[in-house]
Amino acid sequence: MTRSAYSEISEKIESIAADVGRNPSSISLVTVSKTFEENDIVPVLDEGARVFGENRVQEAKNKWPQLKQKYSNVELHLIGPLQSNKTADAVGLFDVIHTIDREKIAAAISREMVKQNKTLQLFVQVNTGGEKQKAGILPDEAVKFVGVCREKYVLEITGLMCIPPFDENPGPHFALLEKLAKQCDCQFLSMGMSADYETAIEFGATHVRIGSAIFGTRTKIQG
Ligand SMILES: *Cc1c(COP(=O)(O)O)cnc(C)c1O
Repeated sequence: MTRSAYSEISEKIESIAADVGRNPSSISLVTVSKTFEENDIVPVLDEGARVFGENRVQEAKNKWPQLKQKYSNVELHLIGPLQSNKTADAVGLFDVIHTIDREKIAAAISREMVKQNKTLQLFVQVNTGGEKQKAGILPDEAVKFVGVCREKYVLEITGLMCIPPFDENPGPHFALLEKLAKQCDCQFLSMGMSADYETAIEFGATHVRIGSAIFGTRTKIQG
């Protein structure tokens, strides 16, 4: 079941891209493996998936070093909020961070990348719905914040990321993210999840983050 789901989604992404006149290779499928264990992840790796997303540093640290030894060329994306005391681990383990949203984190990542002599691909998370409980910089402050990351912390920010409000039409949020990305010269757009990736691709997503449509419903609560 897992095997066919990954292939199905990959093919669907290609066909949606073709429908909207985009090059399928410009869209990266980030397979979100949070809460799932090695047993669930290995079949997807065996099918050829190499780009994975996790939202907790500790959880990723518990399962990915072993998997990375067995499968080469795995690219790991941190898609959940980062706490500054986890920055060293995050920079060590991940290749891409989608969730920079405040100066303290920008500063910590900058220091760690120098220390570890490692360059990560970096995205700024934008709270497009202005939701109180949600991480991300507010849309009005996003362009300025990207500038601060680049100038003050010498971070190469190449993309923006958003998670639209659960109960709203995602289209306007994706459109807003696309507009902001143009304003700050960001090439990549991390947007779209299992429920809305088709819409996200229409609006220019370059990274869709898909979990449950590949692995099935998450039954474990993250602790
Ligand atoms: C869990 C998660 C996803 C994947 O969600 P699905 O609905 O299972 O596809 C995508 N992005 C982020 C930030 C997540 O935390």
